[in-house]
Amino acid sequence: MIYFDHASTTPIDCEVLEAMLPYMKDNFGNPSSQHSAGRAAAAGVLNARDKIAKLFGCKPEEVFFVSGGTEAGNWALKGACLANEGRHIIVSAIEHPALIESARDMERQGYEVTYIKPDKSGVIDPADVERAIRADTVFCAVMAANNETGVIQPVEKIGNICKERGVFYYADCVQTAGVLPFPTASVGAFGISAHKFYGPKGFGVLYIKDGEKISRLISGGKQERGLRGGTTNVAAAVGCALALEKAVKADNKKIAALRDKFVSGVLENIEGAHVNGGGEILPSHANVSFDGCDGENILFLLDLKGIAVSTGSACSAGAVSPSHVLSAMGLSAERVKSAVRFTLGKNNTQAEVEEVLRELKAAVEKIRAV
Ligand code: PLP
Repeated sequence: MIYFDHASTTPIDCEVLEAMLPYMKDNFGNPSSQHSAGRAAAAGVLNARDKIAKLFGCKPEEVFFVSGGTEAGNWALKGACLANEGRHIIVSAIEHPALIESARDMERQGYEVTYIKPDKSGVIDPADVERAIRADTVFCAVMAANNETGVIQPVEKIGNICKERGVFYYADCVQTAGVLPFPTASVGAFGISAHKFYGPKGFGVLYIKDGEKISRLISGGKQERGLRGGTTNVAAAVGCALALEKAVKADNKKIAALRDKFVSGVLENIEGAHVNGGGEILPSHANVSFDGCDGENILFLLDLKGIAVSTGSACSAGAVSPSHVLSAMGLSAERVKSAVRFTLGKNNTQAEVEEVLRELKAAVEKIRAV
């Protein structure tokens, strides 16, 4: 298989898997237990938290283990609303459903939500955020980079505005962990997810700045300083820390060079292809629309050739709804429907890029001929 869908998930790194295995076999203890098996597991959790805190540039007490990017976003939004005064929420219209759906949940509880649209290139203007802030604004979410387009957002500027106006700011860093510096100084909280950087699935981290007020969502034991109950997934914590350390050290230039070759190959060889998103884009991402095609059909034809890509559309109850991200950017319905997302990773090669270019051209021609 040629895998060009790294924004969806990544294969686990072998070294990461090796580091996790002892915590599923020999050191299987519950880290809350007082016997030596428990203490060995607790040491694994402690080291993982310390390592992640160093990488974030924060204190270990500001690092909270969660089940992934979705929980991090839910906890930040709902937890901040519950702990602080105010009934108004700001989220960008291009956020992951983790934030958009959390905002809708709060809307049903009587909160008002402002959804900020990006410009045509997919960038959120900090001035729009500033204009949207009201006296009763309690929370703002604008992601560090979008998962569909890879477009990088002005987190620092938005963070400064929120800080000045006393608004809790959450930056979803799920797509940027290991690629961009962590925005520890600019935000109230940010979240990452281990399976996006060659770590295990079902594990993530929520950074919460010391002094920020946030309520817990998961009540239970005293884990995570009493703010998130549940036995810690020790092996995943160990794996996440190592995967993050490797991701931060990794050189993303090779991925960017391959992606650039791929994009120029598409634009040179396939007529009626348009890149979606502008400004600064993550090294892995290429979101392209193809005139006269349906993105889903391209996906299926490539899949038949053993090539994995994705579209931004969401499939629920048998119906496909168009990408809310590309729609919010103001792209035409045809352009939204014909979009395909290619996201490259550390194991992709030049030969794979060439093969995808060949098969993609053939797929587009086949669809247009029908
Ligand atoms: N936020 C963004 C930007 C994402 O891309 C994703 C996953 O696709 C998530 C949140 C959700 O992360 P998880 O799969 O860990 O729940």
